[in-house]
Amino acid sequence: MRTYHNYIAGAWTPSVSGRTFENRSPANHDEVIGLFQDSTVADVDAAIDAASRAYATWRLVPAPKRAELLLAAAARLVQQKEVFARDMTREMGKVLEETRGDVQEAIDMTQFMAGEGRRQYGQTVPSELRDKFAMSIRQPLGVCAMITPWNFPMAIPSWKIAPALVCGNTVVFKPATLTPLSAVNFVKVLEEVGVPPGVVNLVTGGPDIGTRMTTHDEVKVVSFTGSTAVGRLVNQNAASEFKRVHLEMGGKNVIIIMDDAQLELAVEGCLWGGFGTSGQRCTAASRVIVHEKVHDAFLEEFAARAKGLRVGNGLDASTQMGPSVSEAQLQTVMKYVEIGKSEGARLVTGGHRLDTGAHARGWFHEPTIFADVSPTMRIARDEIFGPLVSVLRCSSLDEAIAIGNDVAYGLSASIYTRDINKAFQAMRDMYTGIFYVNAPTIGAEVHLPFGGTKATGNGHREAGTAALDVFSEWKSIYVDFSGRLQRAQIDT
Ligand code: NAD
Repeated sequence: MRTYHNYIAGAWTPSVSGRTFENRSPANHDEVIGLFQDSTVADVDAAIDAASRAYATWRLVPAPKRAELLLAAAARLVQQKEVFARDMTREMGKVLEETRGDVQEAIDMTQFMAGEGRRQYGQTVPSELRDKFAMSIRQPLGVCAMITPWNFPMAIPSWKIAPALVCGNTVVFKPATLTPLSAVNFVKVLEEVGVPPGVVNLVTGGPDIGTRMTTHDEVKVVSFTGSTAVGRLVNQNAASEFKRVHLEMGGKNVIIIMDDAQLELAVEGCLWGGFGTSGQRCTAASRVIVHEKVHDAFLEEFAARAKGLRVGNGLDASTQMGPSVSEAQLQTVMKYVEIGKSEGARLVTGGHRLDTGAHARGWFHEPTIFADVSPTMRIARDEIFGPLVSVLRCSSLDEAIAIGNDVAYGLSASIYTRDINKAFQAMRDMYTGIFYVNAPTIGAEVHLPFGGTKATGNGHREAGTAALDVFSEWKSIYVDFSGRLQRAQIDT
């Protein structure tokens, strides 16, 4: 049994607690992937101290040089992609094709942010006074605490760590306890390409150390991705010290299917959007609103195709949907199946745990669809994070948009239509951070902003150049070369 360590000040170190926790495969819970450090506040303090010391020199490394390390890291990720994808499938269950995509997203983001090493553009503007020069530059903030979930175990850390580093910050990173191996793999790559000691630190463990990371004086930025409930706590904990807090939280995303949609394409989109990653994506299409004229035809085909999805171990090339990530997550899915039934929705397909034969040792659940769902039902409002899709009916685009917007979250939405006017109306009126036309709610690319409105986010965005705004702040600089006192707004 391999034991993995924290990475603090450039050394792989055991926790002072002397304790470890197990990481087990959700497809086969007899398989222990490794033992990881059950860290304490003292470990976090050591990591923050290392990051704080490293910041003094890292912030002075020219950004293009910092970027060279990211480019080297991206190249190494390319070499290791298959190994890292397999590790990820083993530890969190999604199918290999998707974990390869997860590593690829980390590659894309690391490359993109390496490019930002030679940009990070500021503004140069004419001064209102003679012989005076005016410009703005981005400056780093210091130590950044990164707290991440398990569903994108390498992509999400890369979305945070790569922009933080290229801007000149240092990092303390705490992954979810369900996916520490992918975090170790990513940090090891950064170590191997020569990111200096202390610049990136990794500490594994649970909520206690997360709380410390969000309250420690030396932490200047907290970047959190996870549930809305924990995000709220993080926000509150970090508020009193005025830390910059970047939150990416839950979703209840919607696909709208109009009566002029290409139905076969819409079915494909709903299968991928609803059951990809076993429904465990923040952008998962857990609601589908279908125009009444095509509702029955859509539902029949959607249910037949969902029923036919092959559920199993993600390492098996024929598997189309893996397990839920944990027993707790599976229980949540099962609980919502009961809630859906008790609310009066119609169970069209699925609805059961799979726990015999090849499924006996894992947290598997059937792809599940409820129809006749009304917008007030909990299965239409709560984030479930599993293979459960609610199908609702509408009679117009206006109604679909009203239902679509009437949830607490605002991450992603999409519309299937061949009418460009409808597409543009929905694009304008759905209040989400991401919108798709004739594609499902998942499929973001790294060079555009990623994030959501309402209970999904707090106004910041990940990815693209928007991420630089999280990990840098503006300094406006005025250089007066007149040799005399010039008073803005007073002297002309
Ligand atoms: P979670 O909120 O349970 O945990 C997220 C992280 O926070 C973990 O590392 C956890 O250990 C840590 N944590 C727990 N309590 C903490 C505390 N008090 N202080 C600081 N940190 C603490 O979420 P999860 O179950 O790992 O992930 C699923 C959730 O993540 C879903 O709600 C999903 O929508 C969301 N998510 C959102 C996005 C997005 O970009 N909007 C992307 C992926 C996942």
